[in-house]
Amino acid sequence: MLAQLLAAVADGSIEVVDLTAPLSESTPILQLPEPFANTVPFSLREISRYDDRGPAWYWNDFTTGEHVGTHFDAPVHWASGRDGEDVSQVAPGRLIAPAVVLDFSAQAAADPDFLLEIEHVRDWEEAHGPLPEGGWLLYRTGWDARSGGQEEFLNADENGPHTPGISPACARWLAEETPVLGLGTETVGTDAGGAHAFDPPFPCHSFFLGAGKYGLTPLQGLDRLPPRGAALIATPLPIVGGSGSPARVLALVER
Ligand code: MN
Repeated sequence: MLAQLLAAVADGSIEVVDLTAPLSESTPILQLPEPFANTVPFSLREISRYDDRGPAWYWNDFTTGEHVGTHFDAPVHWASGRDGEDVSQVAPGRLIAPAVVLDFSAQAAADPDFLLEIEHVRDWEEAHGPLPEGGWLLYRTGWDARSGGQEEFLNADENGPHTPGISPACARWLAEETPVLGLGTETVGTDAGGAHAFDPPFPCHSFFLGAGKYGLTPLQGLDRLPPRGAALIATPLPIVGGSGSPARVLALVER
């Protein structure tokens, strides 16, 4: 079976789709309002580059937050999941899982504050079948098209950021009543831009991580995935005690 998989990847009948944002100093990052502390951006510092500091080699140190660029949220990231897994404790078998894609990019284009509700997911299940047991719910909003710049990506005005998300009732239902493994989104965090003012605040973080489930964001290229049938490979670094980690996220798609 494994040989068949490898042959299919080699001949392109299974495509490997990279859902990861490139990591650089211009990778957009979350901005929390005062008085909260913020993450640092990603940065590289050169150690040597074929020069007298190291004549035959090039290498860098890098600085990053755990939640910078495409990254994995572990349960311990949120107070509701404080007794749960840190990112090094996530079983490797959970890092390869089925994925479904719920496409609400048209709704988000019309309303950047669009919120997914339980009835939207119920309607999607009518058309495409049930949410996957132990799999990812990937929520497509088209927001990846804005990932080139911080301002456009965060879409903030004097009232705060405006980016699409999930309502508190739907987040609670998905986390507590459905068999999904976690939530993947295209925005800077898994919650809506306005979620600081929701009840509870940041409901996707609160309910998913509180239920021992995971988050993955920002993802790109979800438009290249079918509504169901993809396999997702997420590879956070095993940072001991870490609340999350930058991750390469790949999808396998049958062509
Ligand atoms: Mn995060």
